[in-house]
Amino acid sequence: MAKQEDQFKKVISHAKEYGYIFQSSEIYDGLSAVYDYAQNGVELKKNIRDYWWKAMVQMHENIVGIDAAILMHPTTWKASGHVDAFNDPLIDNKDSKKRYRADVLVEDYCAKIEGKIDKEVAKAEKRFGDAFNKEEFLATNGRVLGYQEKINTILSRLGKSLENEDLADVKALIEELEIADPLTGSKNWTDVKQFNLMFGTKLGASAENAMDLYLRPETAQGIFVNFLNVQKTGRMKIPFGIAQTGKAFRNEIVARQFIFRMREFEQMEMQFFIKPGTQKEWFKYWKETRLKWHLSLGMGEDNYRFHDHEKLAHYADAATDIEFKFPFGFKELEGIHSRTNFDLKQHEEFSGKKLQYFDHEENASYTPYVLETSIGLDRMFLAVFSNALVEEELENNTTRTVLKLPAVLAPFKAAVLPLVKKDGLPEVARKIVEDLKWDFNVAYDEKDAVGRRYRRQDANGTPFCITVDHDTLEDNTVTIRHRDTMEQKRVKIDELRDIIKQEVDVRSWLMKMEA
Ligand code: ATP
Repeated sequence: MAKQEDQFKKVISHAKEYGYIFQSSEIYDGLSAVYDYAQNGVELKKNIRDYWWKAMVQMHENIVGIDAAILMHPTTWKASGHVDAFNDPLIDNKDSKKRYRADVLVEDYCAKIEGKIDKEVAKAEKRFGDAFNKEEFLATNGRVLGYQEKINTILSRLGKSLENEDLADVKALIEELEIADPLTGSKNWTDVKQFNLMFGTKLGASAENAMDLYLRPETAQGIFVNFLNVQKTGRMKIPFGIAQTGKAFRNEIVARQFIFRMREFEQMEMQFFIKPGTQKEWFKYWKETRLKWHLSLGMGEDNYRFHDHEKLAHYADAATDIEFKFPFGFKELEGIHSRTNFDLKQHEEFSGKKLQYFDHEENASYTPYVLETSIGLDRMFLAVFSNALVEEELENNTTRTVLKLPAVLAPFKAAVLPLVKKDGLPEVARKIVEDLKWDFNVAYDEKDAVGRRYRRQDANGTPFCITVDHDTLEDNTVTIRHRDTMEQKRVKIDELRDIIKQEVDVRSWLMKMEA
């Protein structure tokens, strides 16, 4: 646990030191759970967004994008259910005065039991060596099965109580499990209450005429209210999708995991409109497709798992999360929800407008069902960044800090370094930058010894360093050094573009989804 916490602290300080993420309004002591993306962070974030957009929109003939406004007519949120049901169960500790999400306290308790299962697995792995079969072990070991049953019982009771709004039972569960305040150990809890997560604001100049609005808590509704506009003007035929990326706002009760849970964050969502009755097969299709997208980035198959929901949201008939192994354990990175026709029906009812599709093949109109994939861009950023940050022991007994970002996402693809700041080397290096910058984001760095510059670029995640030395002046060759292998090669300046392209090209990364 301590090791995990250390790693997480390193992630946060590295993100600041290397210009990825700053606390919002830091000079005023910051604003809780609000962050700014800095000069490198903004590039990494944009590259993740582009990678998603390319795969989701541009590679699918039947998926188009929109960019809806953050402010929407307030009735939207009555129709969607957010005014009445977008609540989290909160609980206060009477001694520490700290506030928690009651469901998260219970889930964290289960995560601890899961940690015990992991320990059993590690022990058995050691004992059995190569003969160890993890799946068989998980399915047969008595102790593991006991732990698993305990988790299932707790989560299924939590799911039922939340669904029935039986908050007294959620409190009873916390007390029965003897869950203590993680910060102080106190078990002196208040009752569980519901808390609405939407931020309110006002539209209009004078107080008496002002209209109460909400900052959108999800981007999805901007898609639903535009369903017919896009379908008609884009002449879209079912099945088809509408995608969007943009800010969403939630007044989160507990927000202390850096950019994992923020009050202002960005979502990348796609709503896929389908024929009623086909939702099971599309649910399966999008589960597989989205996992392939994640795996194409090469961040380790073992770092992902599906978590099917016990507790379904009011609009869903099936739901799963793609969880990622963050420095603080497996947590939700993306949600895939079978939303039925709930949203379109609700908007039909509240607006009085028909939101139906005429199916020429069936010669009938119907309200489409919807399959949603929804991923937090900031959570994806944290997954990529925390997974990439490693400290490596080198042969000469020194260590180096490397940010092994997938090259396709790295803010800078290459840094060009003149060996010394004289003899015309900076001029040649600048010329290389001028040429490469048409295709890639490239940096120029001439300060400090070249070894320190390599380290700086390693820590910044730059896949290639290109060094210009005196031989360059003679034969137009440079040294190109690879971030991960540290291998250096002598190549012609003319070859640089192709070498870099091979490694950073979106095409070759996304192609892995086809494999
Ligand atoms: P959680 O259970 O962690 O609160 P959620 O199930 O409410 O998340 P969804 O409403 O399904 O989340 O939103 C889709 C995605 O948006 C999530 O998978 C997550 O990546 C992202 N997301 C949701 N809330 C936040 C937040 N406060 N900060 C950052 N990202 C978020």
